[in-house]
Amino acid sequence: MNIIPDDDATCQAFLESSVQAAKKATCQRSKCGSVIVKDGEVIGEGWNTPPGEVESQRRCHLKKSSYDLKVTDKTCCVHAEQRAIMDALRRHPEKINGARLYFVRLGANDEKTRSGKPYCTICSKMALDVGLSEFVLWREEGFCVFDTQEYNDLSYEYTP
Ligand SMILES: [Zn+2]
Ligand SMILES: [Zn+2]
Repeated sequence: MNIIPDDDATCQAFLESSVQAAKKATCQRSKCGSVIVKDGEVIGEGWNTPPGEVESQRRCHLKKSSYDLKVTDKTCCVHAEQRAIMDALRRHPEKINGARLYFVRLGANDEKTRSGKPYCTICSKMALDVGLSEFVLWREEGFCVFDTQEYNDLSYEYTP
């Protein structure tokens, strides 16, 4: 993992793009945004909403403990990172290999918040499988740039 200081203009710009994406989220649990960048250009963006934007598929209010153990994904909406990856695959499939993903979660007043440790193995696997090279989280230390293999390992090793 490589740390880039908070005042880095490039990272700040794509963090802001992620914030703008997150503001379109309709998840009632948390609003997240993500952009995928290749050669300084945003090639995909995403935010979390119910699958297919189908309102009857909204599960934001259901308790995660209400699902059986076999239901491995207990989150409600399609994740911002999944959406950004699918968007990039549709719009710029030839550019996704080696691209970098940025992610941010908004707080109660739509302000950007710093991330903790990675834990979403759905997105970590997908980012790696599709050929992204880096996954960026804005954390206390600054912009943490993870290699996608490292990000997948860390996600599986998560402890609170
Ligand atoms: Zn939701
Ligand atoms: Zn995820």
